[in-house]
Amino acid sequence: NKIIGILGMQGAIAEHQEILLQIPHTKIRIVKTAKDLDCIDGLILPGGESTAIGKLLDYFSLKEILRQKIISGLPVFGTCAGLILLAKNIENQTNTHLATMDITVKRNGYGSQLDSFSTNLLIPTIDKNMPIPLVFIRAPYITKTDKDVQILATLDNKIIAARQKNMLVSSFHPELTCDLRFHQYFLSMI
Ligand code: GLN
Repeated sequence: NKIIGILGMQGAIAEHQEILLQIPHTKIRIVKTAKDLDCIDGLILPGGESTAIGKLLDYFSLKEILRQKIISGLPVFGTCAGLILLAKNIENQTNTHLATMDITVKRNGYGSQLDSFSTNLLIPTIDKNMPIPLVFIRAPYITKTDKDVQILATLDNKIIAARQKNMLVSSFHPELTCDLRFHQYFLSMI
């Protein structure tokens, strides 16, 4: 059994939980304190509001401990705001959050007209045969990656999913679909 943590500060916590409940041999722990971090095998950073989640990480004295765990190899999966939390650089913004992944991210990258949309895309690293449904909500995208970052998916020349060692990120929200494949891929990293 693998114990998957879901960072329980703010955002789509219950939605990730719903998906994980459908995957056998997984246990779930909502992470709110440093102690919770000691008993998990991997951690999901949900979508929501990155500024709010960043502030709550400070408030609960979790930021530095979590940062060290990620640097030491804790597998993490950041969706949307979670991606922003992991980025070393955020465009038009000086402060960053966990800043462990060598990517530059543009927040709300799709502007106001296309605030939210969904589409289907073949992401061969996840599944060679069947496209994956993608849901974007005020989504960020990745504008730059260092060379040891593996780009998993692009949409209109924008990078929307990537992996660097133990860190997996997506601009979109796999937890808002009924599709388990992205989460299963994350579990395969653990
Ligand atoms: N726009 C949000 C942010 O900048 C992210 C949106 C989301 O997680 N759905 O934090």
